[in-house]
Amino acid sequence: MSERHREFVSVAAGQVPVVADCDVVVVGAGPAGTSAAVSAARNGCKVVLLERYHHLGGMASGGMVLVLDDMVNAGTEIVTTGIVSEFTERMKAQDGAIYPPPEDCRTDWEAWKKWSRWGAIDFHSTGMPQPIIHAVAFDPDCWKRVSLDMVREAGVELRTHSWFSEALMEGGKMTGVVAQTKMGRQAIRAKMVIDATGDLDVGASAGASYLQGQFIVTTVFRLCDVDTAKAEAFEYSHPEEYKALDRAARRVIGGAWGMWWLKTPLPGIVWCNCPHMPGYDGMSPEHMVASEYEGRERMMKLLAFARENIPGFENAKMLGAAEQMGIRQTRLLQGEYVVTKDDLTKRRWFADSVCRGRDYYTPYRALLPKGIDNLIVAGRHYSVESEAQKLSREIPPCMAQGEASGIAAALAIAGNVALRDVDARAIQKQMRAQGADPGDVPSPNALVETMETAQ
Ligand SMILES: Cc1cc2nc3c(=O)[nH]c(=O)nc-3n(C[C@H](O)[C@H](O)[C@H](O)COP(=O)(O)OP(=O)(O)OC[C@H]3O[C@@H](n4cnc5c(N)ncnc54)[C@H](O)[C@@H]3O)c2cc1C
Repeated sequence: MSERHREFVSVAAGQVPVVADCDVVVVGAGPAGTSAAVSAARNGCKVVLLERYHHLGGMASGGMVLVLDDMVNAGTEIVTTGIVSEFTERMKAQDGAIYPPPEDCRTDWEAWKKWSRWGAIDFHSTGMPQPIIHAVAFDPDCWKRVSLDMVREAGVELRTHSWFSEALMEGGKMTGVVAQTKMGRQAIRAKMVIDATGDLDVGASAGASYLQGQFIVTTVFRLCDVDTAKAEAFEYSHPEEYKALDRAARRVIGGAWGMWWLKTPLPGIVWCNCPHMPGYDGMSPEHMVASEYEGRERMMKLLAFARENIPGFENAKMLGAAEQMGIRQTRLLQGEYVVTKDDLTKRRWFADSVCRGRDYYTPYRALLPKGIDNLIVAGRHYSVESEAQKLSREIPPCMAQGEASGIAAALAIAGNVALRDVDARAIQKQMRAQGADPGDVPSPNALVETMETAQ
């Protein structure tokens, strides 16, 4: 964007009050950042969690991305556990999460009819019916409540309404961060910094190398007063008629995955993961305004079409669009190791794997920037190629990265060593102790090129 700006002003540097001194500051309280903060605090660190908005959850709550997926390897092996499982069970206890029991995770039409409209299908599978897999439909406000509970119980100091603005550096080492608030700028000093902004805001400010990625953006929304039982009954009793209507609906919205509406734990309320809009830069204020106008216009057209044409949607109403624009990809760290599409599609195993996604392994090095001390990243902006990030950015693997990064920060402080000198085996061991799968043991379908252990 900067090349479009021809004129500049100078602003005074000024003095910034220090509002907190801590072991670890986590910037961004999305799925990755919340997990990182809880994990670091449970490992004995004094943690500050900084968030620009009033709510916790990032895309999972404010962005209303309402299905946890990419958790399963080879159809049945659940590989994102630990804090991800804890979130799931806590939400379920509040009637805020629904997922298929193991006996329903199979491939037949009966299971498909029961679970596909909850989003518990293998989206990567092209044959029909697609396999039913472990995936979790959840409620966004429940996510916010569970996040707050877990952060408070872990003793994390939460600072919302605080927009990260600058990295504090001494030479090549991070010493804290500055946030912009209603009360002016505020500084937080920290021994270790975890960048969980999703956009690499901290890393970019600290001088980390990155590539500028981009992908479709989406104004996700929910409809209420939908008779989902009627809609499903029509879909299964009149499959050809339904398919034609569904195709027409997707033309009206102008960009959606196959399943443009899914059920949520709240009766009569459906989640619409659309419209998908290419060409927008998720960091540009001008682009975000334009996409907001475009997305809202398109969703109202879809609502009108659905009310008019789709059985079950006759009385549907707009419950509302997500508070946050659905941003999938912006800056991507180019760190100590850059994960490639080949790594993911071949299921390449790494000896220093510290967390896992669907059927891939994330090496510790992919969380570390080059040349900057005391900074680690967790989330959708980790060190990865653009095409590979599209396959490895789902909520559960981002949370697993957060859990691992919190452990790494705690180990670095305890051992008085740089993050890059933390022994990945120690992170793996602690991940296992926390009930998470670090990927230290390759699954039978992994590509194992060397069995050297982590160092
Ligand atoms: C439309 C859409 C559909 C998706 N569908 C699915 C799906 O079905 N299932 C799935 O598992 N995943 C899905 N994803 C992917 C997933 O939602 C994200 O990749 C995931 O949420 C990333 O988590 P994160 O914590 O890295 O980043 P985010 O969720 O983006 O969280 C980043 C956090 O940092 C905060 N922050 C950012 N900048 C600053 C700053 N400067 N100062 C302070 N705070 C800051 C944000 O407010 C936010 O809370 C989808 C994504 C989109 C956009």
